[in-house]
Amino acid sequence: ERRVLWFRRDLRLLDHAALLTAAADGAEVVPLYVLDERLLAPAGRTRVAWVLASVRALADELAEHGASLVVRRGDPAEVLPAVVAETGAREVHISSDHGPYGRARDARVRAALGEAQPGEVPLVETGSPYAVTPGRVLTGSGTGYQVFTPYYRAWLAHGWRAPAASDPARVAWASAPTEELPSVELPSGVRLEAGESAARRHWAEALERVGDYATARDRPDLDATSRISPYLKVGALHPRTLLADLADHPEPEAFRRELAFREFYADVLHHRPETAREYARPELRGLPYLTGAALCEHLDVWRAGRTGYPLVDAGMRQLLAEGWMHNRVRMLVASFLVKDLGVEWTHGARHFLRHLIDGDLASNQHGWQWAAGSGTDAAPYFRIFNPTTQARRFDPDGTYIRRWIPELRSVTGKAIHEPWTAPGGPPEGYPAPIVDHAEQRAAALEAYHALRR
Ligand code: FAD
Repeated sequence: ERRVLWFRRDLRLLDHAALLTAAADGAEVVPLYVLDERLLAPAGRTRVAWVLASVRALADELAEHGASLVVRRGDPAEVLPAVVAETGAREVHISSDHGPYGRARDARVRAALGEAQPGEVPLVETGSPYAVTPGRVLTGSGTGYQVFTPYYRAWLAHGWRAPAASDPARVAWASAPTEELPSVELPSGVRLEAGESAARRHWAEALERVGDYATARDRPDLDATSRISPYLKVGALHPRTLLADLADHPEPEAFRRELAFREFYADVLHHRPETAREYARPELRGLPYLTGAALCEHLDVWRAGRTGYPLVDAGMRQLLAEGWMHNRVRMLVASFLVKDLGVEWTHGARHFLRHLIDGDLASNQHGWQWAAGSGTDAAPYFRIFNPTTQARRFDPDGTYIRRWIPELRSVTGKAIHEPWTAPGGPPEGYPAPIVDHAEQRAAALEAYHALRR
């Protein structure tokens, strides 16, 4: 018997539950990747290049086992029935997808494969990109959790399986004609190597530093986080692999909690797919956000990293150069766009999804809703980040700021956090603050209170 294994957000061969099921009973497995342009539409060049490099690395790893990845371009609802017909496969295997697009696509593929009719080809789901599949952990009343902490408790209590023992060397691989995979070069700022082997090496190094994670994770200058998100995004590693390794570690808690955030947001999106676009707290929709030319002006300045607030600008420039930004700075630039610049969160979320190498609908949209105060579990709207205090606290010497803002490299002392106080004003080429934080904060709070009245 022959079966198709359709790779999507699971571009690896180890700890792959769907591969294990597809290869059961000695079945031949046709490995397939479908280049679906609609899925990659919100992504900019960095993420497209990263996804393609990850697919290429998967093809190389398959080749080491004498297998060749079948690549096809087009609508999966047309491609899958065609590949099934060509290969005579009896089943199609996948890891489940929980985003709104993925779910609708899989329903269309299922219908196109004629799954409901006797004798036709089923789409078999085994595993997901999460340790606990979204939708599994429910409150006592059978609904999804809205708030992280109780979700986290329930998630820990639910637990997860040990890594799946998939072994590509023991699979009877089969193939079919393939199309050329386009090649897009990764920007020079991206220093990660794509693929499962590289991901495992990267993770082994990150694991050595996990002991410092709890204390150093908020410091962009120390760059002490794992930077594992681009690998999790494409499934070059499964989070269960990480959790299994963490279990032997003396201080796994802080890191495990962050992995659970990723799972929580996927769970919220699973239960409430509309939160990808709409305010989870609709009452905040009425705030007087900018429109027209004023909106464009603020958005352009923020995107370019020229607001005059150094930590905000450093983060925005890191995003453009590396396709990644430190989490503490993501929170700050998001708060700044919404509360100081009066721009609706959806504009910022779109810019992030375009440029982030780890751009992920669930984590991104809910990260933004958290910062905007409108998420199911969000920072209260009235808690407004102060960009200068944040910089003093989390980049005390200005190391991160100087790394990303060449114009400020010569600034010394406290002025690195507020260059407008430097003798003679901000250095040549660096802008004065686009807004006054104290004024904007007061205006945002006033608008919020007016809305509540
Ligand atoms: P580490 O600190 O080493 O954490 C390990 C892993 O835990 C991460 O790789 C990630 O999978 C998970 N994680 C950590 N923090 C969070 C969090 N707050 N929310 C969800 N998962 C988390 N993450 C994305 O993967 N894709 C996004 O598109 C994305 N957009 C964001 C937008 C905003 C406005 C904010 C505030 C956060 C966003 N995050 C997003 C979450 C977080 O910033 C990144 O996951 C993290 O910075 C990735 O770096 P790391 O792997 O070094 O993280």
